[in-house]
Amino acid sequence: MINKNTKSTYSLKPQRKVGIFDYPFTLNPYIGCEMQCTYCFVPGPVIKTTRSDFFQNVQVKINFEQMLKKELEKYSTLPQHLKRVQIGVTTELFQPKVTNYMKTTLGYDLIEETLKVFKANWDAGNKWMLHILTKNHNIISYLPLLKTMKDMIQVEFSFIHHDDTISREYEKYTSSITKRLDAVDQLSKEGIFVRIMAMPFYGDQNDLTKLKDMVFNAGAQAFKNKSLNYYEWNKIKNINPLDPLSRSKTKTNIHIPSLIIKSGEDILPHSTKTVLLPKKRKRKEKFINWSVKPGAGLELQTVSVADMGYSSINSIDWGYLK
Ligand code: SF4
Repeated sequence: MINKNTKSTYSLKPQRKVGIFDYPFTLNPYIGCEMQCTYCFVPGPVIKTTRSDFFQNVQVKINFEQMLKKELEKYSTLPQHLKRVQIGVTTELFQPKVTNYMKTTLGYDLIEETLKVFKANWDAGNKWMLHILTKNHNIISYLPLLKTMKDMIQVEFSFIHHDDTISREYEKYTSSITKRLDAVDQLSKEGIFVRIMAMPFYGDQNDLTKLKDMVFNAGAQAFKNKSLNYYEWNKIKNINPLDPLSRSKTKTNIHIPSLIIKSGEDILPHSTKTVLLPKKRKRKEKFINWSVKPGAGLELQTVSVADMGYSSINSIDWGYLK
């Protein structure tokens, strides 16, 4: 079921820390996702709801465009390297039924409106880097708009494996690996920067290398990988995704550093830069919302200069990120 969500009071969500796996802001125009991937750890670990509710009820946030416009104005004076947002972190952006609902019931497409708001801000000098996360081929229907934004976007395509059979054991309703490769190819041919998010990745380093070779042949330019958090692969194979699932482990974020490419890894030879970042907190220390209280919530930190592939897209100074 797809419904309107009138309760949401924000569009951009500031994150508590910024690191190789965390962006300063996230943005999710819906709550819920009908893709029903068995490894999904949004319902439970991230959002306090049942899997059955999260996977069967999608709520489209109302007044999102207006909230986003106000927030972008409010955040316009933040340091440039913090003006980065990952879109579609706790939901799939390009769910066909949701797109259809927005167009037929609401009379507008929230994804299109969101992208256009960011583009208007970029053109006016308030420049935000967008990381558009998906595993759905339907992103291609937005190609005409995305083409006009290639200096401000990186598309992040999610893959758990290089093989369709393995994928289907854990993600029955997403685009096939073959279709995802086709989307990577089409986006890349238009000059759009594509990063592959092998997160969570199933298999070993050989499988990961095989996937990297496949996607780079299709035009991808960046690669990131991370293990499955919270669950065990052998316990979530071909299960009913709507059934309750108990966690068997915590967040481990295991990854293979040599297969992180243009995704926040150190630039060699090693160099550092001192920039403002969200304050490091001790356990149980209160989070100060740095986006509205930058004076209290940010502190100078010396960090490694890292490669995000930004310099091949635009000439903005992103501080410690190239
Ligand atoms: S597409 Fe993402 S949010 Fe949706 S069920 Fe799969 S992992 Fe969860």
